Amino acid sequence: MIQAKGYATSNAKSPLGPYSFERREPRDHDVVIDIHYCGICHSDIHQARDEWGGNSIFPMVPGHEIAGVVSRVGGGVTRYAVGDKVGVGCFVDSCRRCTSCQAGLDQYCLEGLTVTYNGLERDGKTPTYGGYSDRIVVDENYVLRLPANLALDASAPLLCAGITLYSPLRHWHAGPGKKVAIIGLGGLGHMGVKLAHAMGADVTVLSHSLKKEEDARRLGADHFYATSDPTTFTKLEKSFDLIVNTVSALIDWNLYLNLLKLDGTMVVVGVPEKEVPVAAMPLIFGRRSLAGSLIGGIRETQEMLDFCGQHGVTCDIELIPIQKVNEAYERVIKSDVRYRFVIDMKSLK
Ligand SMILES: [Zn+2]
Ligand SMILES: [Zn+2]
Repeated sequence: MIQAKGYATSNAKSPLGPYSFERREPRDHDVVIDIHYCGICHSDIHQARDEWGGNSIFPMVPGHEIAGVVSRVGGGVTRYAVGDKVGVGCFVDSCRRCTSCQAGLDQYCLEGLTVTYNGLERDGKTPTYGGYSDRIVVDENYVLRLPANLALDASAPLLCAGITLYSPLRHWHAGPGKKVAIIGLGGLGHMGVKLAHAMGADVTVLSHSLKKEEDARRLGADHFYATSDPTTFTKLEKSFDLIVNTVSALIDWNLYLNLLKLDGTMVVVGVPEKEVPVAAMPLIFGRRSLAGSLIGGIRETQEMLDFCGQHGVTCDIELIPIQKVNEAYERVIKSDVRYRFVIDMKSLK
């Protein structure tokens, strides 16, 4: 076994603290990665605090926005070599056989994903441990290549926040001539603005107040509106081809559906705590669609990373030592970060 160090929590009520554990010896197709950076995703907090249905697995080492360097490869590895800059996202395996996996849509694996942490390996019993640690062992088919020209720390959140926005923007054809609105300018939303802008779309940010307007324009937004101003919803009626809703706060989706053009789509990527009522009328009048989207497959995640390399897109981050992770969690909950915390794994040593 390979000895690993990291930060873990032993139950839903405890803060994270130092933790030693073992990773598997690399198998034929495994890559051993020295983790340099790991982003903090809001879902890390939900899972560490067991807020998603009471099935969290403890002890838990969170983290699925992993950036690092290959330090060792198994005998059968062909895609990666020692020294390569690589990333790992939200999952580290899937069944590889179902129609979703065969179609390269492994994020929708019909047999269920092996998530990077708080999950079980395909054997159904070995727990997975995430990126708040010094190294990880992952099958080469679930490892991503990071563009050489991008900073490693600011690339880490592309593995979850980046792909979560890239996939729906691509699927619903964001690009030149398309009007795209992003609801919320947080970790997800700021990536949505950067990516939609890089794709050539006309980008509008819909944010609670005008507080982040300057930031949004710097990130690539063409327009900015405060949703606390009710006239926003009359002014922008029937305006957008695509709206991506990144907020998990309870907002009235029907108001936003009315902002879609004929055949427009609103895609939900944030998960509100409670069910959200949806009226039929805004959907019927305008043949509009309401949809959801889950991260992206391995193939599309690589496409996203290559796109980011070509367009120089990374995340705006605040780099922290791992000793500050509990404090960072509190700040994420208060949306007090622009726009993603990334843990510097040097601080583990
Ligand atoms: Zn995430
Ligand atoms: Zn599958």
